[in-house]
Amino acid sequence: MKVWRRVLERRLRTRLRAKVALEIHDNTHTMLTFQRQRAMWRLRLHHMFLVAPDDVVQALASFVRKGDPDASVLLDKFIERNRVYIRRLSPAQMRKRIRLEPVGQHHDLERIYARLNERYFEGRIDAAITYGPAPRVKGPRKSIKMGSYSADSKVIRIHPALDQPVVPRYFVEWIVFHEMLHHVYRTRKGEDGRRCIHPPELMEHEKQFHDYARALAWERENLDLLLRARVTPA
Ligand SMILES: [Zn+2]
Repeated sequence: MKVWRRVLERRLRTRLRAKVALEIHDNTHTMLTFQRQRAMWRLRLHHMFLVAPDDVVQALASFVRKGDPDASVLLDKFIERNRVYIRRLSPAQMRKRIRLEPVGQHHDLERIYARLNERYFEGRIDAAITYGPAPRVKGPRKSIKMGSYSADSKVIRIHPALDQPVVPRYFVEWIVFHEMLHHVYRTRKGEDGRRCIHPPELMEHEKQFHDYARALAWERENLDLLLRARVTPA
């Protein structure tokens, strides 16, 4: 890597006709920054640039020297093509970028989650939970996704329409419980090669929920109410 850094430094120096100090990093968002320091250019570049082709190195130089928009486009394309070399964030890192808002007006998701975690999972589930965001929909909804689970960030999201006094606690608990099961049973490929989001074990496990039949019945009778709920997008 050290050798490649020197090589790239030299390639840039030739094109910029100035001294270049190059630092190589493994950032996840900012791929390139630079600043002028007297007669020297200081560049910080993602390691994908180490073996960049000549046109990319030329674009780097034009972009650094005069903010050339064509060069900028070419660099963006290069970064896009090399996206696989950008490190993926860990769930904890991804979570830091999400604003968690688990405390609603009527139902405190954090509390519900903590209780379910104790009661059913011996406190072993290490996901985070939050409301929303409410998807923007015009007119009445035809369906409603009451919860979701992201395996990448380990975040459970609950639809803000559930945060109403008419929605019973056991119903919210059931939705949260279901999403917690998604944390336990990951999506996998079924025998037919299709993605199986709800494997039989998950469906079976779900029946252990203390108010399962009641929650199902409430959903059947009140789905309309949830579909009509007015939710202001956060
Ligand atoms: Zn599900």
